[in-house]
Amino acid sequence: NLSVGLVGLANVGKSTIFQILTQQTQIGNPANYPFATIDAIKSIINIKSPILDHYQTIFQSEKKIESNLMIWDIAGLTRNASSGEGLGNQFLNDIRNVDGIMHVLRGFQDEEIIHIENNEVDPIRDLTIVNDELILKDLEVIENNLDRLNKLKKKPVHGHNVNKIELENEFKVFEKLQDLLYDGLKINQVEWDNPDEITIINKYHFLTAKPTLYLLNVNEHDYKTQTNQYLSDIQHWLTKNSPHDKLLMISANYESSLLEQEELTNSTIVNEIITSMKSALNLISFYTCGPKECHQWNLRRGNTVQEAAGLIHTDLQKTFISSIVYKWVDLKNLDLFNESLIKSQGKQYKQGKKYLVEDGDVVIIKAGS
Ligand code: GDP
Repeated sequence: NLSVGLVGLANVGKSTIFQILTQQTQIGNPANYPFATIDAIKSIINIKSPILDHYQTIFQSEKKIESNLMIWDIAGLTRNASSGEGLGNQFLNDIRNVDGIMHVLRGFQDEEIIHIENNEVDPIRDLTIVNDELILKDLEVIENNLDRLNKLKKKPVHGHNVNKIELENEFKVFEKLQDLLYDGLKINQVEWDNPDEITIINKYHFLTAKPTLYLLNVNEHDYKTQTNQYLSDIQHWLTKNSPHDKLLMISANYESSLLEQEELTNSTIVNEIITSMKSALNLISFYTCGPKECHQWNLRRGNTVQEAAGLIHTDLQKTFISSIVYKWVDLKNLDLFNESLIKSQGKQYKQGKKYLVEDGDVVIIKAGS
């Protein structure tokens, strides 16, 4: 199950946004004092999908099963978290376990709500504090490993225990990462395309390697007009320091009033946040549809249909023979799915195990026993 963590300083609106995304008011603990949230709280968000709804209709499935994301409300970070302050290390470890980050920034003024940094709203200072803590934590991991590898390099080789080439490669990657972080850049700001480097980087679950979506929490007026006094400065900052990360505005207060009136299903921002997070995580969806149920599954872009089969059932991956695929473009205008008609139009595709699944595909797996 893929997971996303809400990250940010205390009192920026994380817990409120957590409730909005999960559409429940009972969980989480929005409160006007720092550290209201100590333990990370998690919940599942079902991902609404008009494509799934359409497939359920045309396949006349009894029920639909949406794909989901696990979301964690991670307690507020503070300056110096990486050196253990304010339960810092615990928070940073909670971040290590998620696949993606939603970084919440406070862009709203409210005298009543304490700001832990000099009681002054300044989202760029805030995001720098948080990112610096993530960078420092990654540097700590890198420095420890460089020390470890240095010691290993000096050891004489006994038997096959130490592979010198692997060591050297790992060492080089760590040095590269270290330079990057020293420049204040996050690991995910570099296009890594060497698979060996990617394997090494993935092994260590670096905090700054995680795809990030920035959420600027603003008042209702700013959200509705898509203006905010800090917006252009933040966009500038992102272009310079974090060009791969997207920024969205949200008004936590406004959305939570919708939630109370049970009108949140109409909220466009919730869908937009989830869609943006999915694409930051490089996720697409494929579907399995029959009379009983129509099911939406999340899959990494670039995965094969055999890997997709493994999500449905590990046995299906092992005994995979072939697949039948229908494309969204061919199905989107239908009122009813008619297999023989589709087949006669040449829109039923037989695909072998290497086929790369595309967003919107309906997939039927053929497997042995
Ligand atoms: P967290 O510490 O980041 O999880 O922040 P919370 O969600 O607990 O919010 C802290 C306080 O700020 C609570 O009293 C919220 O009601 C308030 N708050 C959250 N979002 C907004 C907002 O958009 N506008 C205003 N005025 N207050 C907000």
